[in-house]
Amino acid sequence: MKDQDNPSRRRFLAGSAAAATAAVISKEASAQEGDFVIDPPDVISMEVVGTDARFPIRRVFCLGRNYRAHAYESGDDPDVNPPFFFIKPRDAIVDYREGHPYPQGTQALRYEGEMVVALKSGGTDIDPADALDHVYGYGVGLDMTRQDLQQEAQRLSRPWAISKSFDKSAPVGPLYPVETHGHAVSGRIWTSVNDEIKQDSDLDFQIWSVPVGISILSQHYELAAGDIIMTGTPEGIGLVVKGDVLRVGIEGLGEIEVKIT
Ligand code: MN
Repeated sequence: MKDQDNPSRRRFLAGSAAAATAAVISKEASAQEGDFVIDPPDVISMEVVGTDARFPIRRVFCLGRNYRAHAYESGDDPDVNPPFFFIKPRDAIVDYREGHPYPQGTQALRYEGEMVVALKSGGTDIDPADALDHVYGYGVGLDMTRQDLQQEAQRLSRPWAISKSFDKSAPVGPLYPVETHGHAVSGRIWTSVNDEIKQDSDLDFQIWSVPVGISILSQHYELAAGDIIMTGTPEGIGLVVKGDVLRVGIEGLGEIEVKIT
């Protein structure tokens, strides 16, 4: 049936055109007045070494099983299954000084010490040879995980979101800008619990190095300034309970101390 033969279809089109015009007008008006129907969400940001200015976060990508020994301890074979990506909401990122409140909904809270990479620019299909040009800086962080919920998700072939993407699930330290501190592409990465070393590896052991990871991610998403990437954890993951003190350090990027409260 042609549109002109269908009065209700014509009315719908006319109505939607009017609504679209109204939406454009009201969007412009809002932009001018700075007016929203509810308060806009806070800008989530990270501290930057050497300046009071902060790094605003757009999206948080995370790499899974990016160290061979950790892939094996997770029951995976890195020669069969390459690393992969998941996402945390931007407000999962919190300053490490806040500590980490033991989250609701779990009986098994796991630590994963990781390096964080912050992008100052992006694009699609980025060549690995150009990828480091997009990096603003590097830092230390924790990918906290509700392990019992993750195991249930794995058993039922469900998404990992509820196990990985919970509130305040990523305490982080400050970013070390490339401009002043250079690129962090190798160096020791370690995690201790109550002063006992649990993870002790090197960024060199990443399966997807930072430039390779950025390149592969950019084949699936248009990356942009403000995106950050948590680059995966080495072997030695484990559980923590209230009162435990985690320390994560990376050579050249300092150490953070996070108390589970
Ligand atoms: Mn992780």
